[in-house]
Amino acid sequence: MSAIFGETLSFKQESGPDVELVAFGDEFYARYETKDGFTAIYDGKLGLYCYAELADGKFISTAVPISEPAPDGLRRHLKEAPSVRNDKFDNRYEKMMPPKDSVWANEALETYGPNQGLLEGRQVNTGVVCGLTILVEFPDLPAQVTAEEVSALLNEDGYTANGNYCSVREYFRLMSSGLLDYSNVVIGPIRLSQEQRYYVDNLLAEEALNLVVDMGVDLSQFDSKGEGYIDALSFMYAGPTLYEGWLWPHNYYLEWEHGGYRAHLYMITSQGLSSSDLSIGTFCHESGHMLCRFPDLYDYGKRDGDFERSAGMGVYCLMSAGNHLNSGRTPAPVCGYLRYLAGWCSNEISLNTPGSYTAVHGDYGTVLVYNTVYENEYFLIENRSEVGLDQGLPSAGLAIYHCDIWGSNEWQGGSADSHYQCGLLQADGHFDLEHGLNVGDATDLFAIVEGEVLSDATTPSTRLWDGSDSGLRIADIGAPGEAIGFNVV
Ligand SMILES: [Zn+2]
Repeated sequence: MSAIFGETLSFKQESGPDVELVAFGDEFYARYETKDGFTAIYDGKLGLYCYAELADGKFISTAVPISEPAPDGLRRHLKEAPSVRNDKFDNRYEKMMPPKDSVWANEALETYGPNQGLLEGRQVNTGVVCGLTILVEFPDLPAQVTAEEVSALLNEDGYTANGNYCSVREYFRLMSSGLLDYSNVVIGPIRLSQEQRYYVDNLLAEEALNLVVDMGVDLSQFDSKGEGYIDALSFMYAGPTLYEGWLWPHNYYLEWEHGGYRAHLYMITSQGLSSSDLSIGTFCHESGHMLCRFPDLYDYGKRDGDFERSAGMGVYCLMSAGNHLNSGRTPAPVCGYLRYLAGWCSNEISLNTPGSYTAVHGDYGTVLVYNTVYENEYFLIENRSEVGLDQGLPSAGLAIYHCDIWGSNEWQGGSADSHYQCGLLQADGHFDLEHGLNVGDATDLFAIVEGEVLSDATTPSTRLWDGSDSGLRIADIGAPGEAIGFNVV
């Protein structure tokens, strides 16, 4: 899943030109504002986006199109009542959960990682993996990109088109230190039978797959383990992202079978308005769920028994809000915690012995870990200076994560029984991520501090979630850069 935080996007209207709106939300609930802050909803009767007002806590249309001035007295930034939001969220969430009797019933889409911190289900996070990416278009909306352009985005060495840092394949090679070589065969654009709106309520996956099979595409190339599964299946639809129904960028499971090959997990995202919109961020994020079973490290607001929103890992991980950095063109790395869980860090350096240590930026195969008395709970340290894939971060320096594979990034409480599975110890001690005040700021990471920086007595502290002293004490942190020195005392 992919959260959106105030992104400006283009939307189609039946009875008018495309409009630009600012979208807020996540997979299950979204809210739109005009650029000057008035809430807008689509008025199906008029076929236009109109200003919204509240009635019984619910958005209704004022029937005044947003191309006109806002009605007198209308307030900005209207939000629906929490109960209305939660009902809508539940509705959509129910639809997105596997049927109770399905073999996937346990593959719930949660921030809690029931499988040693990861989501349950088939992992394909090492080896040579060839995914199938299908470009689709609609009779009313032809594709604006070609298979060659998308193939370059996904596969090309040295790819930097549109300001992208690298291709999707290079991103995963870098994150996995070469353990995962994930490329894609791109097919299409293929034209679906119905207009785009139809696929808001009807998932396009099956129709698109059947058309691809009819073209004679050999599915065996997508089954890297020889288990009869299509390892990675992606759909990219024509036009800008539509944050509605089944066209909302998402990742889910699909029951489909042909000639001894079954679909398993799939992801869907958009092609954008033109090839200059192509970016790797969301594709990498959704691939992280699909291939590695990474959980989301942001907070949906209502899940895993928790009702408050927070920012989780903010922009500090691909699997939180980091996929949106530089408009998705320089997504944040997969944080050290998830790389560690994926088995991508073959060089494990223990911080349990006092001494001087160095964290090298971009050394994604190395993990600096401080183990505690609990096997599930530990601290990880990595260098997040503003270079390479970290160039879009708001802060630079040493990142220290408090990890617990039994936690959930839905749980911002910071207590023994309700805490994140991966939380960033924010240097400024403000807990802005936990409070949902921002997705990262300039004083989150540790940079140039002399003397003791972190212990059981500091804020933030290195106490365990049960309140006891973990024993981790850090002092004398060097300046941000390619290598940051620090002492464990
Ligand atoms: Zn996600």
